[in-house]
Parts: sequence; C-alpha cells; structure tokens
Amino acid sequence: MPARFALGLVTRYSFCMDANFVAAESFSFDVVVIGAGPTGLACGIDAKRAGFTVTCIDKGCLVNSLFNYPSNMTFFTTPELLEIGDIPFSSPNQKPTRQEALEYYRKCAEHYHLDVRQYEPVLKVDGSDGDFVVHTTNLHGHNREYHARKLILATGYYDRPNYMNVPGEELSKVMHYYREPHPFFGLKVMVIGGKNSAAIAALELWRHGAQVTLVHRGPGVSNSVKYWIKPDIENRIKAGQVKAYFNTRVREITLEHVVLDTPEGPETLANDYVFALTGYHPDFEFLSSLGIKLSGEADRKPVCDPQTLESNVPGIYLAGVIVAGMRTSEIFIENGRFHGQAIAADLKRKLIAHLVTN
Ligand SMILES: Cc1cc2nc3c(=O)[nH]c(=O)nc-3n(C[C@H](O)[C@H](O)[C@H](O)COP(=O)(O)OP(=O)(O)OC[C@H]3O[C@@H](n4cnc5c(N)ncnc54)[C@H](O)[C@@H]3O)c2cc1C
Repeated sequence: MPARFALGLVTRYSFCMDANFVAAESFSFDVVVIGAGPTGLACGIDAKRAGFTVTCIDKGCLVNSLFNYPSNMTFFTTPELLEIGDIPFSSPNQKPTRQEALEYYRKCAEHYHLDVRQYEPVLKVDGSDGDFVVHTTNLHGHNREYHARKLILATGYYDRPNYMNVPGEELSKVMHYYREPHPFFGLKVMVIGGKNSAAIAALELWRHGAQVTLVHRGPGVSNSVKYWIKPDIENRIKAGQVKAYFNTRVREITLEHVVLDTPEGPETLANDYVFALTGYHPDFEFLSSLGIKLSGEADRKPVCDPQTLESNVPGIYLAGVIVAGMRTSEIFIENGRFHGQAIAADLKRKLIAHLVTN
C-alpha cells in the first residue's frame, strides 16, 4: 500500500464584510500540477499512485496541445512509447493518430480518477514550499485558489509561437498553427519553416489542391525531418509541385503579397495565406515570475536538479518539454512521460522527512 500523506481535499470560502466582494473558492491538495498534457497527466498519476492528493489544472481541455495539433496528424512514435501510468496504448496502426491519442489520454485520466480542472488558466502563484497558493479563473470567470504543498509545472510550449517579428505578421491571414488543408484549395499558400511541421503541412496542402510555396532560412529541408517525410517533400520540390526558397527570409507580409529576401535579392510573391511554422517556446515569463532561473542566453533552460527535477525554487518541480527551454526537440512525450516517476520519488522522500521531523 502506498503511504498516505494526504491533507485531503478541502473546500473553503473566505468571509468579507464588503457586500460586493466575491471570495475566491479555495481548495487544498498535496500536489498541484499546472498543465494537463501527457506529462502533466503522467505526473498527476504518479503522484496519486504515491499516495498524494493531486489536481491537474489546464487552461484548455485535457491534452490541449494534442487537441490543437493538425487534425489529420499521425504521431512519429509507436504507441507503446506514448504510454503513461502503465496503461497499454493499443492501436491497429504502427504510428497512432491524434484522434487515438486523445482517446488514450482521456481513458488514462478516467482510469485513475484523476482530478482535472479544465479551461482554468493559472494566472499567478504565491506562497512557498509547503504552502503554495495557485490562483486561477475557472470556466465561468470565478476566481479560485489552490493551496498546495508542492507544485509541478508541466506547461509545455505549444501555445507560444516563435514570431518572425516582420511587418504584417499580425495580419489575420498569417497563422502559426496548421489544422487542415480543405479551406485552402486553389489558393496561394506560403509555408514558412523547414522542419517536420512545415514539411507535413506543405505536403498536405499541396495534395489538397493549394499552390504551395515553402520558405526556409536554412540551406534545405532540415535533416531532422523524419526519414519517411524528407524524400517526399524533396521530390515534390524537385518536380516543381511545391516551390521552395531556401537561404531566404521573409521581409514583409501584406494583404496580397509576401516580400522575400532571397540570395538573389528581394522578391515579391502574390499570396493569400501564410503558415509561419517556425516553432514554439515555453512561457519563460511565467517561469521567471515564480523565481525560476533560466540558464544560457540561447537555450534558456530552467534551472533544476536533473535527478529530482526540483527547480531552484524549493518545492517547485519542472516536467516535460519545459525542462529543455528553447531546445524543445530534446524532450517530447517519449522521454518526458518518465518525469512524473522521478518527481513522485522525491516527493515521497521529502514529505516522509517532513512527517518524521514534525
Ligand atoms: C505536430 C506535432 C507532432 C508531435 N509528435 C510527437 C511524437 O510523435 N512523439 C512524441 O513523443 N512527441 C511528439 N511531439 C511533441 C510532443 O507533443 C510534446 O513534446 C508534448 O506534448 C509535450 O508534453 P508536455 O505535457 O510537456 O506539454 P503539452 O502537451 O504542451 O502540455 C502543456 C499543457 O499546459 C497547459 N498550460 C500552459 N500554460 C498554462 C497555464 N498558465 N495554466 C494552465 N495550463 C497551462 C497547456 O494548455 C497544455 O495542455 C509532437 C509535437 C507536435 C507539435
């Protein structure tokens, strides 16, 4: 039987003499996990299996990033490498689809009766080790506060695009997320980027009748593009089916054009829509607001103990892709899913020590 250190789930309401004051609804947990992506869920499950009361709070739906991935996407990873909580991920496909992954992670949360608070952005964290206070606004706009002895941050990176910072990037025709090809049939679509997301979007758009131009600042399609995708996009480029500009940067986007800086000089292309698939990054401001230090100008890796994943702020743990800072391709579901076990082991050590000394 796992040891039980649980404070228990407590709901409390504060009183105030001011008639207009609406007190925040208040809850207590041993552990609050911020983010209910694959890693946040794995952390919640591992903390719960270790005997702690835990909630996972997400600003969107369960596995919000995966929900927002391209509708027809197939994972690069075989199903067993996406598993969490020792729940088998069974799929008839060698590589599961986004739809299957949504079903799978929802079943995992259900199986473990995991407390998940959806559509509840975490706005601020106060307090310190032993009594953190996590402030949120719920689905209906009500303020909530969660008291937690320990915090796990698993906030991912997908909601923060890397902007190019060029004029016109703010136009509504410029998107940083690609969903599906159908609305772009017959239109002039520019895809910016040279990695997997850009290659896949360019191919899918072309196969569904869009006139696709691929623009990348590097000398060619990135070598990190998966071995079954790279020849496909390179052959489409060779055949002139997808027009490509390499060693090229976007200078400006207007309603009807995109101006490029190519090795041969500036070029203006007629354009209807732009997908700027230039990557994403963690919410560094949020991490810094909690006192978490970032190391390295370029990498901006949050400082944490590589064994326990406890950050430089005692009681706050980091999990999933945020651990990699800007190097977002170093941690993904395959390896981030094990962070929960490392953290749960340290939580047990620390909270047992706390019980013994008090
Ligand atoms: C198109 C695509 C395909 C991929 N394919 C694979 C693959 O095949 N195999 C693989 O291993 N990896 C793959 N990855 C990478 C993988 O999806 C990510 O590395 C993984 O989702 C990271 O998990 P995470 O739990 O750390 O973060 P996320 O899944 O991004 O979860 C973070 C969660 O935190 C929430 N959140 C953020 N801020 C707040 C806040 N302030 N308050 C409350 N909630 C908040 C977000 O809404 C989100 O739900 C792919 C990525 C992309 C974009």
